[in-house]
Amino acid sequence: MIWAGATFLFFLFVNSMSIAGEIKLTGNMIQGGLIVGWATPGAKIQLDGKPILQADSGNFLIGFARNFKLSAAFEIFFKDGTSHDRLLSIGQRNYKIQKINGLPKRKVTPNKKDLALIKNQSKLINKARLVFVKEPYFTAGFVIPVVGRVSGVFGSQRILNGKRRQPHFGLDIAAPEGSVVKAASDGIVIFVHKSMFFNGKTIIINHGLGLRSIYIHMNSINVRPGMKVLKGQIVGTVGKTGRATGPHLHWGLKLNQTPLDPEQLFWE
Ligand SMILES: [Zn+2]
Repeated sequence: MIWAGATFLFFLFVNSMSIAGEIKLTGNMIQGGLIVGWATPGAKIQLDGKPILQADSGNFLIGFARNFKLSAAFEIFFKDGTSHDRLLSIGQRNYKIQKINGLPKRKVTPNKKDLALIKNQSKLINKARLVFVKEPYFTAGFVIPVVGRVSGVFGSQRILNGKRRQPHFGLDIAAPEGSVVKAASDGIVIFVHKSMFFNGKTIIINHGLGLRSIYIHMNSINVRPGMKVLKGQIVGTVGKTGRATGPHLHWGLKLNQTPLDPEQLFWE
């Protein structure tokens, strides 16, 4: 329960904690939040007993899912035999109910043929996800991909045409069709699709260590799989392809399999 031997600076706000020298955790300790960490390279890091991958550079990532429990045991074992552990407190979120009506019926209740297509398309995404990027590109920091009005937030319980559906795992930013979409951070483009059933024109960028951002409903795409992109680089334009009632960018973020809240990336 103590950081034995470590000099540390601890901000009482749940959103920032930093330990000088050996461990640094930056980010919002909240459901849906991403923690960008650094520790002396060669450490073994665990959250609730599960291993956390550390890059050769010492960087690592921790993500808190939408309904993550309100505390977690963080442990780190250094190469020199010393170790630290601490109970992290994770802030609780209140998610709203979002009702959207007027969507085409098939986009809410797909037919048999659509379901087969959806399944095939999600297989393509699953395959792309296997591309492992070990470079911690995310250390470049983050930018908001589109300037616009937030029209949908992370975590909302969704009622589409009166039917209960999956929570909304992303941030919707409404902007005129054709507005430029920028890469949220440095990374490698691992997926491009021109016509997904729900997502329409879609890009996924891998920012390293399992962190990926997705950009959907786009009007045009100007990157190819395998391309290295820089934070702020234009990757395409805003559209309303797929399941969308108007032009907007749905921007999603995942750490491995866990959807996170893009809005929580801006802690500075
Ligand atoms: Zn959305």
